[in-house]
Amino acid sequence: MVDPLSWCPHLDAVKPVPPSGIDVFLPCQDCGSDAENWICLTCYQVFCGRYVNEHMVTHGAVSEHPLVLSFSDLSVWCYLNLLPLSILQVL
Ligand SMILES: [Zn+2]
Ligand SMILES: [Zn+2]
Ligand SMILES: [Zn+2]
Repeated sequence: MVDPLSWCPHLDAVKPVPPSGIDVFLPCQDCGSDAENWICLTCYQVFCGRYVNEHMVTHGAVSEHPLVLSFSDLSVWCYLNLLPLSILQVL
């Protein structure tokens, strides 16, 4: 385990949670997987993780949205730091 960071320089990318909230049961927008999904904290689209089809990895690279929230353990990950973040600081 790595100790989560409480801050990273990319927190500006985090946008407010939409009025509809976060539905942790949404499937991946690209492949429909519900195995291990993440939600982008910039645009709130849902994609699968690196152990499924890596669609969130692709989304992060293409759209340059660095911060994502895991549905499985509610951890926040920064693709630019490649480190976990403390969720209490982010949300
Ligand atoms: Zn970062
Ligand atoms: Zn997918
Ligand atoms: Zn996004």
